[in-house]
Parts: sequence; C-alpha cells; structure tokens
Amino acid sequence: MGSVAVQETLNPFEIAQAQFNTAAEHLKLEAWLRDVLRRPKRQLIVSIPTKMDNGTIRVFEGYRVQHSLARGPAKGGIRYHPNVTLDEVKALASWMTWKCATVNIPYGGGKGGVVCNPKEMSQRELEGMTRRYASEISIIIGPERDIPAPDVYTNAQTMAWIMDTYSMTVGSTQLGVVTGKPLQIGGSQGRNEATARGVLFVTREACVEKKIPIKGARVAVQGFGNAGSIAARLLSEDGATILAVSDSGGGITNPRGLDIRAVLAHKEKTGMLRGYPEAEPISNEKLLELECDVLVPAALENQITQENAPRIRAKIVAEAANGPTTPAADEILHKKGVFLIPDILANAGGVTVSYFEWVQSLQSFFWEEAQVNQHLEKVMTRAFREVLAIAKKFDVHMRTAAYILAVGRVAEATRIRGIYP
Ligand code: GLU
Repeated sequence: MGSVAVQETLNPFEIAQAQFNTAAEHLKLEAWLRDVLRRPKRQLIVSIPTKMDNGTIRVFEGYRVQHSLARGPAKGGIRYHPNVTLDEVKALASWMTWKCATVNIPYGGGKGGVVCNPKEMSQRELEGMTRRYASEISIIIGPERDIPAPDVYTNAQTMAWIMDTYSMTVGSTQLGVVTGKPLQIGGSQGRNEATARGVLFVTREACVEKKIPIKGARVAVQGFGNAGSIAARLLSEDGATILAVSDSGGGITNPRGLDIRAVLAHKEKTGMLRGYPEAEPISNEKLLELECDVLVPAALENQITQENAPRIRAKIVAEAANGPTTPAADEILHKKGVFLIPDILANAGGVTVSYFEWVQSLQSFFWEEAQVNQHLEKVMTRAFREVLAIAKKFDVHMRTAAYILAVGRVAEATRIRGIYP
C-alpha cells in the first residue's frame, strides 16, 4: 500500500517558523534565543475608516508587524491584497529580518498589509485609505524605527502619500520614513528595477554553478508585477529566451521566445497579458511545470507545494516572490537536483537598494544609477557566494544555507546586545 501524504501546512507563519527551526537546529541555538527569534517583536492591528466615492465610509483592516530590531530599524514593504492576514504579515516580517541579514544590511524586519482590493478602488479612495493607514501606523514607523516600502499592489505613489502624511504630522519633510519613493521626492535611481536586477545577478551566479549559459537559457516567469515583468525584461536583455510569462489573469507562452518589450506594451495598453497575439494561452499552474532552465516564481506564496513539486522541470528556481515554495516542496526539488535560490537571497535586491535610498535620503546626497547597480551587484554576488559556501559545508540546500547565515547573524547581534533590563 502506498503511503498517504500528510497534508502540509500552507500557513505562511508556520512555514516561516519551520524554516527558522531548521537553521536553529544546525546552529545549535540556545533555547532562549529560539524563543526570542521565532516570534515578532511587535504587532499592530489598525482599523482604517475610508470615505468611498459613493459617499459611504468603509472600514479596512491593516497591520504593521516588526519582527526584529536587533540589527537596526525594521524594514519591509506594505501589501494591499484581499487575502492579507495577520499571519501572512508576520511571516513576511520575519522573512525581511532574514533577508536583510542574508545580504548583511543593517536592518531588522517588518511588514505591513491592508485587506483590500486595490483593483476595485479609485485613486482617490486609495489615497484616503493609504493616508489614514499611514496615520494609524505612524506611532511605530519612522526613519530610525521602521521604514516601509512597496510590496504587492503598492507602488511609488503609495510611498509618496505615506511620506507626505507622516511629514505633515511631524511638521517637516521626512525623506527617510519610506523607500521606493518617486525620484522627484528623494527616491533612488535603480530602485524600481532593483528586485529584478538582484534576481538577475544571482541567476547569473546560479547559471555559472550549474554550467548553463544564460545566453539562450529558457526562462518561465510567474507573475508580471514589478519583480516579474522587469526580471523577464532584464533576463531577455542578457540573451535568455522567455518561454512564458503570466499575471493573475493567466499566462502566455511561445516556445520560440516572447518579445518582452512587445508583451509589456500589450499589457500597458490592454491591462492584461492574455490576448497578446504572438503566443498561446497557458495557465499559471502549467507555466510552473514547463520544461525550462530557469523558473522565476514572482507572484504570491505557496505556488510550489508538495503536490506539484514532483512535476517541476526547471533546473534553477529563482524566487522573486516571497514564500513561493513550501518546506515539503523544498525537499522534493532538492532531491530532484533542482537548484533553488531562496527568496531571502534571490529577491533581496529590492531591500538592498531601499537601503541605498534611505542612506541617500538621510544624507540628502544622491547617487547615479551606475553607482547604485554596481553596489547592488557587489552585495548580491557576495551574499550568493557566502550562501553557496555554507550549502556545501553543511551539505544542505540553498534555503537552509541562507537561513543558517541569516539566523546566525541575527542571533549574534541579539546575544551581544543582551536582554534588557
Ligand atoms: N517588499 C520588498 C520585499 O519584500 C521590498 C522591501 C523594502 O524595500 O523594504 O523585499
């Protein structure tokens, strides 16, 4: 009789804790440190009354979670999505802690979210909701305390509203309170492309490791937001063939490769990928199972699970999204010889350039794009090589290796600081 697979948890916070536990075991972490680091330091739940265009007032629920402040202020994006939950934000906040530590930038981890459907809201409604949310969380955010940034369905305009709202309360312009701002008000060159550019840098490294030439490499990208659409463009500019891309409405595929600039223009014009003339439709599920060299999950959590992991045929998986792969799927992919670059490394380019933006904002001294990209490349390739060295030394996959590096750094900071009082 075949064994019946145990149902795996898809609760992102339980997954984050399981990933942490694995690293804590390898590091033989003290029990008290495990107790401190496996839970968030602060969790704020806010109600956000918002005037809607039809004259009614709707109350949205929002969160801001600070997981750790051991290595610096909390840092992390704000997500607007109908499926946001407190546990998801807790997971995303802890992933930010480990991400910042993996690339060794001086931040803790935080995350925010509002349960809403921004696709069904007007700009005016979004501005009202954003400003009230900013006001509600202003008791814990600030340039030295917790610095938000864009995430799923938020963007530079959202950050401008938050910066303005916070600045109005304080009475002076506070450029350092958020990152991912528009260039006109203290944003950084290269920030908009940074997550994708970071994915590109580590994918190049992984291709070297797996002896796959990036020129001609066959790539599939799930998700066509800031990370996915720009990663597809940058990889195609590197000579890769983009076999398929998708958004929440479904995907498109062409085995001879998609002209990404034309696809971007089509999405810009029609608001969706489907209907692009030179391609066949493909579902988000089938896209993941395409035979390819590099698969880039760039959408949401729990896309590669124990159910579909056996059917993944990519040689490299570069996680541009946060949490796209479950722990059970990690093991399956590893056994199949798939080389996975974990989220806390692969998508750390975004927060790395956020760090550069914050430094520039605080100093009111701005860099050129070439300088930003050069520093980013240095940070990403160094982190990749450090993680790969740990993977080889401990004989573990890249996710566990990244956690060993990150948890080790945060544990050391917490230990050296000691417990107050
Ligand atoms: N939301 C992005 C992430 O998940 C960026 C966070 C930041 O720049 O602070 O890494």
